[in-house]
Amino acid sequence: MSLQEDLYELFLLDTQVRGLRSRLDAAMRRQKAQQTKLDKIENQLGELRNQLKHQQSAAMTAEKESNEIDEKIKQSREQMNAVTSNKEYSALLVEVNTLKIDKGKAETVALDHLNATEETQKNIDVIEQQVDSQKNLVEAASKDVEEARVAVGDQLDKVEAERAESAKKIPTASLAIFDRLAYEHDGEALAEIEEQNRKRNEYTCGGCYMQLPIERISSTASKPNAITTCPTCGRILFMKTENIEALSGK
Ligand SMILES: [Zn+2]
Repeated sequence: MSLQEDLYELFLLDTQVRGLRSRLDAAMRRQKAQQTKLDKIENQLGELRNQLKHQQSAAMTAEKESNEIDEKIKQSREQMNAVTSNKEYSALLVEVNTLKIDKGKAETVALDHLNATEETQKNIDVIEQQVDSQKNLVEAASKDVEEARVAVGDQLDKVEAERAESAKKIPTASLAIFDRLAYEHDGEALAEIEEQNRKRNEYTCGGCYMQLPIERISSTASKPNAITTCPTCGRILFMKTENIEALSGK
């Protein structure tokens, strides 16, 4: 086989390797994205549960305070029944009224905290549902990764071995050019010469679609053991055998 044919074989195997890898990579990226989303929602849920605990304990503290004031009011009332002087009675009455105001305040605080608790609980219910559905998405994405691994695994090993074998046939300098171009053009190291009009010598590069000078066409066709590149994009040019034959028969 000529260098051009060897390069073309390597190109096809390289394309297969990239295709298989990208399927697995894409599945893994999706799984990671869904997991990140789940982590974020679970974090949010943790914060809300914390908030709920604080609100509940604040409500309990305010209720306790209200009960304590109530106790004091009872005691003052009992004292009022026992006092004999008007002055003492009036003083206790003032105290009871002040305590009643304090009790009202404590009750309002307790109620506010209870309302906040309810609101937080509602939010928690919503987020818990989100966590559940997000867990399903993560599970589905993980399953996709497993499936891709199974589907791709053996095949990828096999094609990678074939690619390595194919690369051995190519001289080091040419292989370095191939690898660099494959890196630069996302796997498209080679570009097929596309015949637009043979009579008018119009040919374009299948990689960048630019018109190719005729000397690149003849050098591709006449020097199968050399690398001819596209002057615009730099890809290695190759031509279908039937086109080469047609060209030389012209
Ligand atoms: Zn080109």
